[in-house]
This record gives sequence, C-alpha cells and structure tokens, in this order.
Amino acid sequence: MIRANKALSLILRHVQPLRAETVPLSQACGRISAATLLARRQLPPFPNSAMDGYAVRSSDCAAPGRELGRLVLQRTSRAGQAMGARILPGRAIKIMTGAPLPKGADAVVMKEYCVEKDGRVRVLRPPQRGQHIRKAGEDVGRGDLLLEPGVLLRPYEIALLAAQGIGRVPVIARPRVGLLATGDELVDSSRPLLPGKIHDSNGPALAAAVSRWGAWVVSRGIARDDRGPLKRALRRSLSGCDLLLASGGVSIGDFDYTKRVLEELGVRIIFWKVAIKPGKPLLFGLFGRKPVFGLPGNPVSALVCAEEFVRPAIEKLQGRAPAHPSYHLQGTLENVYPAEGSRQQYLFCVASGGPEGFRLKAIRPQGSAMMGMSCRANALALAPIGVTPLRPGMRLSFRWLK
Ligand code: AMP
Ligand code: MG
Repeated sequence: MIRANKALSLILRHVQPLRAETVPLSQACGRISAATLLARRQLPPFPNSAMDGYAVRSSDCAAPGRELGRLVLQRTSRAGQAMGARILPGRAIKIMTGAPLPKGADAVVMKEYCVEKDGRVRVLRPPQRGQHIRKAGEDVGRGDLLLEPGVLLRPYEIALLAAQGIGRVPVIARPRVGLLATGDELVDSSRPLLPGKIHDSNGPALAAAVSRWGAWVVSRGIARDDRGPLKRALRRSLSGCDLLLASGGVSIGDFDYTKRVLEELGVRIIFWKVAIKPGKPLLFGLFGRKPVFGLPGNPVSALVCAEEFVRPAIEKLQGRAPAHPSYHLQGTLENVYPAEGSRQQYLFCVASGGPEGFRLKAIRPQGSAMMGMSCRANALALAPIGVTPLRPGMRLSFRWLK
C-alpha cells in the first residue's frame, strides 16, 4: 500500500494535458488557452471620454484675463458616432461616456461640475489637462501579448478577446470521461429492483462530479461480474474516452475481476491500494497514455477517491494546474472517534463556528456505503496515520464538502 501523497504524485506524473482545439468564445470560459494571441488592434481604439460631461480645451477654462470657464456650447458628441469637427477656442462640446473625443479638446469636465444654460456652459472646477480622457492604446497596444498558452480563461479574458473581435480561441480539449459501473447486483436507477439488487449510485454520482470538473461524460452503463462480459465492456469503455473510471470489482473478492481484466487488455497498473479510509482498493493504470482508474464500489469511497485523486487528473488533462483538495482549514474535534490508525482517514464531520474557531463533530457511525451519512456532513477532516483514537480537543485539518 502506498500513501495518499505518493499516489497523487504518481497520477500527476503520468497524466499529460490533452491536444488543443478551437472553440467559440462563448464556450471558452473556464478553459485553458493553448496558443499565443497578440492584439490585432489597440484598446481603446480611439480617444474617448471616460465621463458624461463637457469636452473642453483646458486652457480656455483657466486663461488669465477671461472669465474662467464660460464657454459656448458647440455641439453634442454621442457614443457610437464618428469623431466630429475640431473644437473651437472658447467652446465646449457636450460629450457622453465612450463618445470620441473631439480634436483639439484636452480635458473632459464631469457634468456634475458644469452648469449649462442658454447655449452656454459654466465650468465650476478648472480641469487638469488630460482629465477623464481615455487615450487610444492606453490599455492595450497593437501587437501586445493578449494570451499565452496555459492561461485560465476567466470572464475578464473573454471581455478582452471580444473587444479584439476574436470569436474563436485555441484551448486545451475538454476530456471525455468514460464511466463504467460493475457489479451483478446493480440496476439502473430508472428500473425496478428485484430481490438482492440495488440501484447503481456510482454512475449518476460520478457523472455529476466529472461534469462539474469540466469533462464530458461518456456513460458506459453497468457490467456484470463475469470475466467475458466484463472484458468486452471494459474494452468498449477504453475506446472513445480520454480517461476511464470503472467502479467496483477492484477489491479481493472472488468476483472482483476488474484489475485482472484491465491487465489482460493491456492496461499498465501504476498502483493498486492506497493507505486511505475509505478508498483502500483504489487502482490507477495507463492504457497507452490514457489514465484508467478503478474506484471502489462503495459510493462514499468512490466519491472520496474521485475528489482526491481523479479530479486532479481531470484538471491536468485540461491543462489546469491541478490542485489536491486543500485542507488548509483547522478545527477542533468535539467527540471521540475510533480512527483505525494504519491508514489516513477522511472523516465526515459537521463543522460549526467561524474562522476564529471551527468545531468539528465526527459523524458516528460512518462508513463507505453510508450515503445518508455523507449527506449529513458539511466537512471532510483528515485524520493522519498513527493517531488513534481521535480525542476531543484535537486539531484537525479539514475542507468543506461541496
Ligand atoms: P465492490 O467494490 O464491487 O466489492 O463493491 C463494494 C460494495 O459497493 C458492494 O456492497 C457493492 O454492492 C457496492 N457497489 C458497487 N458498485 C456500486 C454502485 N455502482 N452503486 C452502488 N453501490 C455499489
Ligand atoms: Mg462488486
């Protein structure tokens, strides 16, 4: 058995970002850029007003010997209009935010500091030169770097690219994640149950999780615990996806064939079994360069393993900097919990209090098949190897369960 951090580093070492693809800007948010893009045009494209007010020649508002700031209204400059005639000495041009700055004007006075009456404007505060003017190219120059490969596209990048008239962006492809549930007892949740059967929880749960993490779901249904049919189902599942998640059958039961069959199909096993609870039988391998995970069948284990180990792999496939779930929050345990000690335990807790002092109540009992229990928890705490039992007053790192 290897430890959790070793398992994660092996996964990240073997998973590489996918190919690039070009997508419409409307689908690019949250993706990682795959190319260098340079500015085609300067931003702002032309000098314009940053305020609703009056464009003036600042010298007209402060010229000695003349009455300060009494100007004749020349015309109005609206946003969307082409730049009009030059401003004449002693004149003001009424201007809206975003409207082109008239030639000859060197300042805009906010509407709030002007009084307009009978075709004249009185400026109450003499402006500084350049005030409230957005200069052409002051934000982005032609040929400037807009995007480098590896940048996360946020709504800010989308705004910038749209302003450049760029409608399609090269990004790292979105992974297709194949999902196969295995087990003779499993029935799709839309079908009635016969004696001895249970509904498949992992299919829907893992589909929900991986789509939240930015991947496409390729559902491969449910396979029987029979070598022949399982092999056919796994072979089919290995094609048409960039990463495969098979759940169930990775433990040491008589009918747990997943590991053997994956090996027969040519999957190279990188590790099997991790010193964690829940999730001990976790398996990771490679089919060519394609990551393959064998997740434990119990739904709570499958989801914990998915969050801790599969999510970073899916993020790395997308070119993101993969982050192991961060346990940077600290809380004080309120009750005794009989942790096992030989494995790192993920402890389902109810956290209360605030950043000045979180309290953690470990839910008892808890188990890898207890879905009701997991829904009552709002936090997952880490109980390190070797600490048993956990006692009230102990400080534990935790993260929110979202
Ligand atoms: P296994 O890992 O196949 O030994 O399964 C361990 C436990 O998880 C058994 O109780 C299974 O019935 C249960 N299990 C396996 N797969 C699923 C699934 N897809 N949905 C719900 N429970 C499952
Ligand atoms: Mg099974």
